[in-house]
Amino acid sequence: MRTSPLASLATHSATTMASPPASEPATQDSTGTPPGPLAVDHDRLWRSLMTLAKIGATDKGGVCRLALTDLDRQGRELFIRWAREAGCEIRVDGIGNIFARRAGSDPTRAAVATGSHLDTQPTGGKFDGNYGVLAGLEVLRTLDDAGIRTQAPLEVCVWTNEEGSRFVPVMMGSGVYAGAFTLEHALAATDAEGRTVAGELKAIGFLGQSPAGIAAGAPRVDAYFEAHIEQGPILEDASIVIGAVTGALGQRWYDVTVTGQEAHAGPTPMRLRRDALLPAGALIARVNQIALSEQPDARGTVGCVTVHPNSRNVIPGRVSFTVDFRHSTDDGLNRMHDALHQAAAALEREGHGISVAIEQVVYFPPVAFDPALVQLVRDGARRLGVQPLDIVSGAGHDAVYVSRTAPTAMIFVPCKDGISHNEIEDADPEHLTAGANVLLHAMLERAGIA
Ligand SMILES: [Zn+2]
Repeated sequence: MRTSPLASLATHSATTMASPPASEPATQDSTGTPPGPLAVDHDRLWRSLMTLAKIGATDKGGVCRLALTDLDRQGRELFIRWAREAGCEIRVDGIGNIFARRAGSDPTRAAVATGSHLDTQPTGGKFDGNYGVLAGLEVLRTLDDAGIRTQAPLEVCVWTNEEGSRFVPVMMGSGVYAGAFTLEHALAATDAEGRTVAGELKAIGFLGQSPAGIAAGAPRVDAYFEAHIEQGPILEDASIVIGAVTGALGQRWYDVTVTGQEAHAGPTPMRLRRDALLPAGALIARVNQIALSEQPDARGTVGCVTVHPNSRNVIPGRVSFTVDFRHSTDDGLNRMHDALHQAAAALEREGHGISVAIEQVVYFPPVAFDPALVQLVRDGARRLGVQPLDIVSGAGHDAVYVSRTAPTAMIFVPCKDGISHNEIEDADPEHLTAGANVLLHAMLERAGIA
């Protein structure tokens, strides 16, 4: 047991933002209660992250722990061992999601949950996903040390195949949980070698018995918080440690094909060409302008271009490229959609002798997280003496799907140079601890102390 008795925490829960920052030296007040909010164990959190990162460690300092591989099994089993040691009951559902539950004093209350994912990209880092899971575990360990029981149960979730690198769809476990697609669809997905999710779940021993998804009878949670590295440069650029994530950008993805006619580069005079690449280039530039006209809420990216026949002395007859539009509002996404189609129609009218086909292939609606939970994140940061920054997630996360079923919020901490999905992904241990402390206080506030 540590010297953070229940009374001390209750005192600080009752006070608002006036509590001193955790870094202030502890002095005794008149009641003999040490001031300063309850805090996670900095060294233990870091040690756990580094221990987990050894499973699938790469030479360049990253992690390759693809979903449903034997390395994924090892990571999952390590988490389960730690969660059991912290007194949790473990449940595994039919898509392999793991729920580690710490009982509360009121068995009628739904769990206050947190979590993330343990799978990584092939050249992934140590923190993406892993941090959210281990920050949740650290919250439970900290409460154990302090002898604190909550009213609502607490739960740490590990969602299967968030990355979507080996199996599509991406965010598979949380998607099944929230009913974004069916369990059967997910179980039938195959990797490049033709192995199914169902077969690989069975092979690693994680085809669980518990119902997969709310619709199948999985319990709803009372609230879901997810701590995550930002995976972008905004917090670092602003020198801010805690991002209170207010929502996630909506996304529209397109396949665009510009069709002209291939012809010999020598004999065909300039005015008689139907070159598909020139209008494609204009349209690609327009994608950038469209996003720039919707700042700061929009992104526009062309990441993949295919030129046909891609030969130096043939006028390109067909150019295909992808468009990835993101915006914080559906109105904004619709404006971007319209602007892209108008630009394509204008190019067709301008007499280049080309046609443009635009097919939308993905739509994710923008997500607004729960205002009350976002406020708990801001309050948690201020209680620790940290000024939070409201931020919108540009990437997809398990929290985005979970938010369809329960009030949800996320906590972002900076990552070095904003780099993620890369073996050099890095984060400051102090920032990771600060994020876990915010998670601790937000969850405690929501769950209530018994
Ligand atoms: Zn992630």
